[in-house]
Amino acid sequence: MAKHQFQTEIGQLLKLMTHSLYSNKEIFIRELVSNASDALDKFNYLSLTDEKFKEENWSGKITIKLDKDDRSMSIMDNGIGMNEADLMDNLGTIAKSGTKSFVESLTGDAKKDSNLIGQFGVGFYSVFMVAEQVDVISKKAGEEQAYMFSTDGTGEYELKSVTKESHGTVIYIKLKEDEKEFLDKWRTQEVVKKYSNHIAYPIILNYEELESEGEGDEKKEKKVQKSEQINEATALWTLPKSELKKEDYVEFYKTISHDSDEPLVYLHNKVEGANEFTTLFYIPRTAPMDLYRADYQPGVKLYVKRVFITDDDKELLPPYLRFVKGIIDSEDLPLNVSRELLQENRILANIKQNSTKKILQAIKKLEGEDAQIFTEQYNRVIKEGIYTDHTNKELLLDLVKYKSSNEEGLVSFEEYISRGDSEKKEIYYIIGEDEKVLRNSPLLEAYKKANIEVLIMDDQEVDSIVTPMIGTYKEWTLKDITTIDAPDSKTEEEKEEVAKEFKPLTDKIKEVLGDEVKEVKTTSRLTSSPSCVLKDPSDPMAGMAAMFAQMGQEMPETPLILEINPDHEMIKKLDKLEDKSLFEALSWILLDSAKLSEGLEPKDKGAFAQRVASLATKAL
Ligand code: ADP
Ligand code: MG
Repeated sequence: MAKHQFQTEIGQLLKLMTHSLYSNKEIFIRELVSNASDALDKFNYLSLTDEKFKEENWSGKITIKLDKDDRSMSIMDNGIGMNEADLMDNLGTIAKSGTKSFVESLTGDAKKDSNLIGQFGVGFYSVFMVAEQVDVISKKAGEEQAYMFSTDGTGEYELKSVTKESHGTVIYIKLKEDEKEFLDKWRTQEVVKKYSNHIAYPIILNYEELESEGEGDEKKEKKVQKSEQINEATALWTLPKSELKKEDYVEFYKTISHDSDEPLVYLHNKVEGANEFTTLFYIPRTAPMDLYRADYQPGVKLYVKRVFITDDDKELLPPYLRFVKGIIDSEDLPLNVSRELLQENRILANIKQNSTKKILQAIKKLEGEDAQIFTEQYNRVIKEGIYTDHTNKELLLDLVKYKSSNEEGLVSFEEYISRGDSEKKEIYYIIGEDEKVLRNSPLLEAYKKANIEVLIMDDQEVDSIVTPMIGTYKEWTLKDITTIDAPDSKTEEEKEEVAKEFKPLTDKIKEVLGDEVKEVKTTSRLTSSPSCVLKDPSDPMAGMAAMFAQMGQEMPETPLILEINPDHEMIKKLDKLEDKSLFEALSWILLDSAKLSEGLEPKDKGAFAQRVASLATKAL
């Protein structure tokens, strides 16, 4: 017998489990049954593909035994089992990042919801919400020796060799004194039905019942063992749609997703023909915790003729659909399809294509609050899709939404073009880090004045990469307003005249600012601001911002164009100003404050502050 220390993070997790989590304790049954079902899936696969494991009459099953006298529950399976190393690796240490993020999600103000545990891949430990002692007795298929892993959940566990007849696992749970409710047959049955009704294997409940014997004075009570199957044990997706109700789909979703909420969308499809397969997909109402982690757990499981193949293939759907949960069951793939083969398999590529379309179409059908929830949770991954999935670009462009200068909330391209200028067919946008800065940008003034809607794209990291490559939406061209002429009512001749009139002034300002700006010129795009800065559209670097951002590099400085508003009081006065040093100070202020309005920094912040202070003093 050997004592072992739990990994530090598990120690923290166990503490949380035993002391902080009180809601939804019943989910420990869901988690252990789900683990048993996974173990059965794994053995089922071996028994069908590997001569060594072909057993006569093997059929997977899960048994839950309630023992009132002993105050214990045991959850048993005849699945793949674990050897000594597996027990240590799977239950004593965790290589997955799940533990850490789960512990983090529960500290601080986060609501203490045990329900999430399964989503982090650490579901086993939920048993410590109800257990004062847990023994895991397991024998791995194909091996001789069985082992027992025991712990009271306080930082240490013991491992020893034991005997066990057949492969599989027994989780023996000594319940805490005040968790006796789970010894009640009805209570446990209810929990199993709620979360695990459509696990593909039978779940048998073993329990004791008192039965009376004899008559009158002779009457005696006797304990009898009863045994009953308490779930449907059919893989839900194999049933015809017509036999299934919304509740059935929702319940199955909860089983596979470890989510207690209803899904936002479910779609069940059976495709027949040259390539036969069934898919059942769900979109969670709340984006999975690991949506933006590189080591995210894929949500779709692959089956071949009802036999589980893998839950770890990130290629079953395009990566941007990684929030989708569900099942793909193919009739045509060989059972022993290898991982390498999966990657380039034509049948799978076809399933992937078909599934992607179906999912996107289902999303497009969302309305009202559901559509809003989808956007809140997944807008960003849809942008990722626009960038990576050219086949479905049109569909994805129908789904993505942006903030707008016109209204609060988010608008789609479709909404935008429905109220845009249908002769010009242009969609205007501005990209930046900060919504407020963008909304107050002097560059928007002319659009506001002309009553033209501009999309406010404030997810700069993503938008600056994705938007420039959209190009067009239904023949409407996307235009970055920082690189184009503003809409106005002045003719070219009028503009030229103004430029000529102010040429001495713009030349003088350029002289002061030197290489800090590429050009200084008059503009008609401003109304209330004296100046603005723009990227030079002819500069080859301007279009490469996206590429630099993608490589994680800072964009090299590109020279800016300073535009001044000839109708503004300050510019008019500046034109007549004699004081040379004041002229210089004001020229710099024109540039620096225009930069600030675009969320850029003045080159010399100290000098900027000094100039403002000295001007303020003068004004007083
Ligand atoms: P997850 O199921 O998300 O991997 P868990 O904490 O629920 O996380 O389980 C940890 C691991 O322990 C499982 O991945 C599996 O390898 C192993 N395990 C748990 N229960 C069993 C079981 N009944 N039979 C075989 N292996 C099991
Ligand atoms: Mg689990």
